[in-house]
Parts: sequence; structure tokens; C-alpha cells
Amino acid sequence: MDQFDVANGELLIGGLPLTQLAARVGRTPFYAYDRSLLSRRVAELRTALPPAIELHYAMKANPMPALVCHMATLVDGIDVASAGELHVALDAGAAPRDISFAGPGKQESELRQAVAAGILVNVESFREVPLLAAISDELGLPARVAVRVNPDFELKSSGMKMGGGPKQFGVDAEQVPALLVEIGRTGLAFEGFHLFAGSQNLKADAIVEAQRKSFELALRLAEHAPADVAFLNLGGGFGIPYFPGEQRLDLAPIADNLASLQAQASRQLPHAAIVIELGRYLVGEAGVYVCRVTDRKVSRGHTYLVTDGGLHQHLAASGNFGQVIRKNYPVAIGNRIGVTDVEAASVVGPLCTPLDLLGERMTLPRAQPGDLVVVFQSGAYGASASPQGFLGHPPIVEVLV
Ligand SMILES: *Cc1c(COP(=O)(O)O)cnc(C)c1O
Repeated sequence: MDQFDVANGELLIGGLPLTQLAARVGRTPFYAYDRSLLSRRVAELRTALPPAIELHYAMKANPMPALVCHMATLVDGIDVASAGELHVALDAGAAPRDISFAGPGKQESELRQAVAAGILVNVESFREVPLLAAISDELGLPARVAVRVNPDFELKSSGMKMGGGPKQFGVDAEQVPALLVEIGRTGLAFEGFHLFAGSQNLKADAIVEAQRKSFELALRLAEHAPADVAFLNLGGGFGIPYFPGEQRLDLAPIADNLASLQAQASRQLPHAAIVIELGRYLVGEAGVYVCRVTDRKVSRGHTYLVTDGGLHQHLAASGNFGQVIRKNYPVAIGNRIGVTDVEAASVVGPLCTPLDLLGERMTLPRAQPGDLVVVFQSGAYGASASPQGFLGHPPIVEVLV
């Protein structure tokens, strides 16, 4: 994992040797996110993509407040998926104009908080229209809305499909014209469309195709819109490599395609800003999960490194967060980088379930109790996506370095 430097056999996180960082944190396990890597990733994207493309952070990937504060200074907007996330985004200083709220099953109280905050609500159901209209009347404030469209195509080669076919997300494309009539009739402030086809995609041509089809669908739907399209959110889905053999996403074809969509938009949707929203691509590679080896056990010839961390804090690395076939996340012994005395070992946690596996039969430097195990690619869908209450261990610590 070459995004992190190494000095004297130790990984450097935010410039600090891992053992020093662990001492500073005061206990293990912990998640650490490297500020400079977050900034660098956004800067690289800005350089690669056309300048007019707006970049949003989908904070579901990592809602740690300090990290969201940092991201809010770098991106053009924050996408939230609950009222809880909305509060974090507002606290982080994001401008209400640039916050949008998506999610099926928004509670009435969440919609009220959204209207009061002045953020954009991505409408995902006919049910939300009269609710928003009533809230808007009650508060005397406009209800800013975009329509989240469930497209009539799928994002190919995606780790997680979130559009196309029957879905609980968004409103089916064929029903959107009727929804737009309702939005116009009830006087909601229509501002655009949101299309999100899927997540964790490493194939640039699949993303290009989805963005092109999303754009064309939005153009067709815009003919039914009660007002100008101000925002056209084409989703994201940019993946990061987790497993051996996976190739980094090639941004060049995506950038070329966005430039041509941008040019087309300036003619056909002249008031529209094109937005892409990314979660894991922005934060995933900047984070590590660190736990400490508690015990070394040899069972019938196989070595187990038993650690103080596990699936209760890092469900995704255990393979239980949407993986079909379990594969190992990249793992290292963070205080023995480059050591040539290696062995085959499995890294497990303290939970009483065989699912509590952080690395299965990996080749690692021979580790001892006290050593620090590092799980890379852990900046997204880590702490907040894990069942921390399972087995009653203490809550996880997170630091931004
Ligand atoms: C989850 C989600 C994202 C972020 O997905 P990543 O794979 O983390 O980039 C973006 N938009 C919506 C609507 C989502 O639900």
C-alpha cells in the first residue's frame, strides 16, 4: 500500500511512526485517517476532471465529524442519508445550498429538519411530495427538491447495484413524469435530478456508459420538469482496489466523457451544474484500522494471530459487508514492514464466532503479542458500518492525523 511511507520498518500515518501513533491514541484498536491523503485525493480528482464538474462527498462512507469537517473544506457539497448525518454536515460548516439528502423511507421529522435547514431533498417516493408541501407551508420556507430516478438500466460490473430493475431507491424513470406533475402542482422548488446506479466499480467504461445513459435519461425527463434543472447529480460509483489483481480505476476516459457531457449540458441544460458524488473513492484509501496482537496460537499446524480487533469494528474486512466470496483486505504487521522472516498465519479477533476473521492464511512477517496489525483500505465503511455492540467490547476510537 504505497500511499503510506515507511521509516525504520514502521508504517507512517500522517507522518507519525505507527507505534508512536498508537501510544498517542492511548489504546488499540483504532481507525486512523490521514489528512494529507484525503487532501491529495481530492486534488488529484480536481486535476483529472473538467473544472466545472462539482464534487460531492457522500458522507455515509465515513461520517466521523472531524473527517467531515476536513472534507467540507475540500469538496463542493456533502450528500447525507439521514437527519443524523445532516447535523454532522451542518456542524462541519457545509453550506445548506450544497447539502443534499437521499434515502428511501425518510421520516417526516427528517424532512422537516431538511426543509428548516434549507438543504436539497432528493425525493424518492410519491409519499414525500405532499409531506414536503405541508412542511413547507407550516414553516413558510421553500422545500428544495430534486428527483432521485431509478434508471431503466444498470451499472455494469458494480460491486453493489443501486439502480436499474426493481429497487427501493428512487422513483422508476417511467413514473417520473407523473411525479414531476405533482411537484409542480404542489409548488415544491424543483432543482434537478439525481441518478445513482451503483457502487465500487473499477471499470471506467462501465462508469462512462452509466453516466452517459444517466445524462440522456435526465435530458428526456427534463422536458417534463416544472423548472430549470440547476443540479444534475450523475452519481459516482468510483471503486478502489481492495484485493490482489484489482486494477486502479482509470480516470482519463471518465474525465473525457464528463467533459463532453458538460459541453452538451451547456447547450441543452444551460442552468445545470453537473455533480458527481463519491464516498469510498475519496476516503477509503486514506484510512487504516489498527489492532494489536494479543496471542499467537498454533492449532494443528496453522498459526492464528489473535488480536484485540475484529468484525465488530471492521465488518467489511471480515467479508460480511456485501462480499459474495470472502477475500482478504490488504493486511500488514505495521511495525515489521519489510521483514523477510515470514510465515503463513490467519488474523482473527476476540469474538466467539468463526466469522471473526480479518485475514485468512496470509503471508506475514512472524508476529508476536504486542505487534500492530494494520488493515489497509479502511477509510470507508469501517467503524460506522460495523456492529460495535456485538459481544460488548468498548466502542472504537477514530483519529484524524
Ligand atoms: C452509498 C452512496 C454513495 C457512495 O457510494 P461509494 O461507493 O462510497 O462512492 C453515493 N451516493 C448514494 C446515493 C449512495 O447511497
